[in-house]
Amino acid sequence: MVNLCYNFIEMKKIVLIVGLAASIVLVGGFLWLKNNNSSDDNVVIITTAFPEYDAVRAVVGDTGLPVKMLLKPGSEIHHFEPTPQDVIDIKNADFILYGGGESEEWLDDLLEDNDIDYDKIWGLTDIVEPDIVGDEEDEHVWTSPLNMAEIVAVVGDELGEIWPEHAEEFKANAEKYITGIVAVDKDLREVVKGARAKELVFADRFPFYYFTKEYGLDYKAAFPGCAEQTEASSKTVAELVDEIKADKLGAVLKIELNDGRLANTIAEATGAKVMELHSAHNVSQADFDSGVTYVDLMRRNAEVLKEALK
Ligand SMILES: [Zn+2]
Repeated sequence: MVNLCYNFIEMKKIVLIVGLAASIVLVGGFLWLKNNNSSDDNVVIITTAFPEYDAVRAVVGDTGLPVKMLLKPGSEIHHFEPTPQDVIDIKNADFILYGGGESEEWLDDLLEDNDIDYDKIWGLTDIVEPDIVGDEEDEHVWTSPLNMAEIVAVVGDELGEIWPEHAEEFKANAEKYITGIVAVDKDLREVVKGARAKELVFADRFPFYYFTKEYGLDYKAAFPGCAEQTEASSKTVAELVDEIKADKLGAVLKIELNDGRLANTIAEATGAKVMELHSAHNVSQADFDSGVTYVDLMRRNAEVLKEALK
């Protein structure tokens, strides 16, 4: 008993000492970096998730500026913990593009905690005014392609101010990418116009508020926004089933990187097909490795809508 107690106190001491040492290394690292920040080798653009990464990548093009996406492909978006290397990169970045919403408040906190007075940071919700949905701001503004086009245009201008030597190229890249976004927007509009049904049912979370608003689609979803719940009540399941049956919908939707368990349950009860609508929030490792773009994902979505709105 005595021994156990003694060990416990020793353990606490060790934890304290290790924690203290880690803090010293971290603070030391910051100070060192602060004094070594003038080299051009440190030029980095930081993006948090896929929409930000995609917009910046398109604008940067072949200019060779390194762009880092903090979120790992295939991982859950709303539980992001920066690594010590991420923190160093954030500290050194010349431009940061992040979501700006509630799920990325960790970045605001990090900048504040480290006294980083940083003016080259943009949130997507600074570029596109978010709507209040329910009683919260919905941060998934990029799911409307026209909003995404606006984001790309602003990123093009911003990067041109930071690196004037590439300004022309950034502008041209942005314009080219916007042309692609506008084209897929037209396709999506055509699909919805020609469709029998104008409603989507999601057996999932719902990051598609701006998407459905843009194309005049009704929706019913198991969970609002990017809610953390994944277990639906039997009442919710029954409502989704009723909705699909009432409107004779051919598909029940799930979002990317979800195992589709709830969607499968609803599919069995209704005969509807499980399909994936991609919010571009994050992408799978395979998609990331193949260089998939936002425009590619929206083109996929147009194909899904053709089926889902039949
Ligand atoms: Zn979200």
